[in-house]
Amino acid sequence: MSNLNTDIVKINRVGVATAKKLKKVGVNSIYDLLLYFPHRYEDYSESTSIKNLKPQTSANVVGVIDMIEGHKSPRRRMHITEALISDHDDQIKAIWFNQPYISRVLKVGDTVSLSGKIEDDYGALQMKSPVYEKVSTKNVHTQGLVPAYHLTSNLTQKQVRYLVAQVLKYADEITDWLPKEIIKSQNLISLPQAIRQIHFPQQTTDIETAKKRLAFDELFLIQIQAAAIKNENLKAKAEIISFKEKETQDFVNSLSFKLTDAQKKTSWEIIKDLGKNTPMSRLLQGDVGSGKTIVACLALLNTALNQKQGVFMVPTEILAEQHFISLSKLLINFNIKIGLITGSSKKINFATDEKKIKPEFITQNADIIIGTHALIQEKINFKNLEFVIIDEQHRFGVEQRKTLIRKSGNPNTTPHLLSMTATPIPRSLALSLFGDLDISIINEMPKSRKPIITRVVSEFDRPKAYDFIRAQIKQGRQAFVICPLIDISDMLGVKSVKEEFEKLNKIIFPDLKIAMLHGKLKSAEKETIMADFVKNEINILVSTSVIEVGVDIPNASIMMIEGADRFGLAQLHQFRGRVGRGEHQSYCFLLGSSNSENTTSRLEAMTKYNDGLTLAKIDLKHRGPGEVYGKMQKGFPELHVASMFDFELTKQAKSEAENLILKDPELNSYPDLKIKLGEWNRNIHLE
Ligand code: ADP
Ligand code: MG
Repeated sequence: MSNLNTDIVKINRVGVATAKKLKKVGVNSIYDLLLYFPHRYEDYSESTSIKNLKPQTSANVVGVIDMIEGHKSPRRRMHITEALISDHDDQIKAIWFNQPYISRVLKVGDTVSLSGKIEDDYGALQMKSPVYEKVSTKNVHTQGLVPAYHLTSNLTQKQVRYLVAQVLKYADEITDWLPKEIIKSQNLISLPQAIRQIHFPQQTTDIETAKKRLAFDELFLIQIQAAAIKNENLKAKAEIISFKEKETQDFVNSLSFKLTDAQKKTSWEIIKDLGKNTPMSRLLQGDVGSGKTIVACLALLNTALNQKQGVFMVPTEILAEQHFISLSKLLINFNIKIGLITGSSKKINFATDEKKIKPEFITQNADIIIGTHALIQEKINFKNLEFVIIDEQHRFGVEQRKTLIRKSGNPNTTPHLLSMTATPIPRSLALSLFGDLDISIINEMPKSRKPIITRVVSEFDRPKAYDFIRAQIKQGRQAFVICPLIDISDMLGVKSVKEEFEKLNKIIFPDLKIAMLHGKLKSAEKETIMADFVKNEINILVSTSVIEVGVDIPNASIMMIEGADRFGLAQLHQFRGRVGRGEHQSYCFLLGSSNSENTTSRLEAMTKYNDGLTLAKIDLKHRGPGEVYGKMQKGFPELHVASMFDFELTKQAKSEAENLILKDPELNSYPDLKIKLGEWNRNIHLE
């Protein structure tokens, strides 16, 4: 007997090969297949009689096969199947290419249903490669609204439809975890019914009701999570971190630049929160290069001056090393102990016996601890951690934040939390998505910043771009070259780091110092390369997207991006943000491997706009929100059906979630929901 967990290979007509293809798109079990939703529908709900067909329209035709035969076309060595189909009063020709088996499956006299586009073939109508099906009891492929799935790895629509139709009966076994009273008050259909309807709707309204239910589910899970955290926070106590005005003034005066008004305003919002005895939960949002690190540093300084520990968690070792160096410098006058804990290195900024630098030593003695995931993974416990900063928060999940907080060393208080992000999310959207966080926005760039001059460079002009790089390096500047891949691959025309490194090092710039950086290098190697780049001992760094976030090299003035069309605009903007951080005029060159008009116009947007939010909005027009934000934000809730711009449904989901948490904070009366929430957390927040 099969059930929801049955491996798809056990389904009738799924061979090992098909199973493999399905697994590639993430479908392993019957359950997964049921959740493999179509992304659109073809409307064949009415079959048209042949005499009423019009060219250039899509239609469904039902008729009897009068003739069918297959032959090789002499000219193009292609196999052609031709058939004549007639209904009561007219006849139409159907033609298929390179599908010789069709003439074995369909026979003269069979009644068939064909759907597809009607074309005019010198006055006679014909259908080219229509979807076909023998008319029998159940016509899943061509009658009514026909689902169309996102296909990869050579699966056909027909295959997927057939398989889904076969397992649809198991939808009834899916637990409907949404509380009954919410289903009722929101006027939703049941989960099994929604799943049946989204695959095989009888009418258009079926699609709508199914989507509404499934979209509500996604938004509700986000909101219930936020509501639970918010509720916990309300009850939680935090240590008061009081504002040290004089030292803060000294720190600000010691900087080589003046803080922007936005930096001052957001710093103050944070300082005020830290002074309360309830834990802060704040998101600091600011475009790349807007100067979030200083704001973080100022808050950490106050924490240390209060004799309490602060942690600064970042997503990459490169970034951790960099923050360690820059914070050590920034706080040099304050006699503050700063530690670094990453998977591969442990450091402290004060003199001590090298051998002593164990994680425990750091966590017990340092005032500020900078680190990566290693902070959660290792057996680490802090002495009195009262303030946690998460840089590039989208790279971490809620569970990881919670784990860190549990290690604080003070069971009676919850550390204050500051998340930082450069992800350009409109404020209203951030408020509805991150319902548990207060928001501070740095909405201006340091005055000294010059906009980065950005150009889309054609293959023809590539040599000019290289000349330009050479001239910049002569003036003492440095350059990044980004490639989409690490290794040379069979993806035609897509540049790899290794290949470009060889080319630049041996052919284009044999006299310059070139290095490469990618995720497969050992941490120590990465560290050395970054350190050399910081010291300007490397002129050009060829890298994958590992340098995407946070890296700050003010001397670098050129960002050249290969295969730029493969990245989203917001991501390109992040790359570009690696230059233009110092006083030097900086440049960004975009090279695309595809020359389609769509791509070029998308890339042209980069030359016109310098702010992340505008670019994200433009990107949204070309690609879905899942593509734009999902790729950028690891811990971002992945929405399959819901749109994050559906504020009305989000509002409903939010108010239902808040009510439920108010009534039953532990969700003890809702075991199914609790299980679902657990699964959901595991699925979306894993790195
Ligand atoms: P991000 O917000 O992307 O994390 P950083 O904090 O790394 O940006 O700051 C980018 C660069 O700008 C750093 O080199 C930093 O020293 C510098 N910077 C920060 N604030 C200012 C300011 N008010 N004026 C001039 N430069 C600043
Ligand atoms: Mg940063």
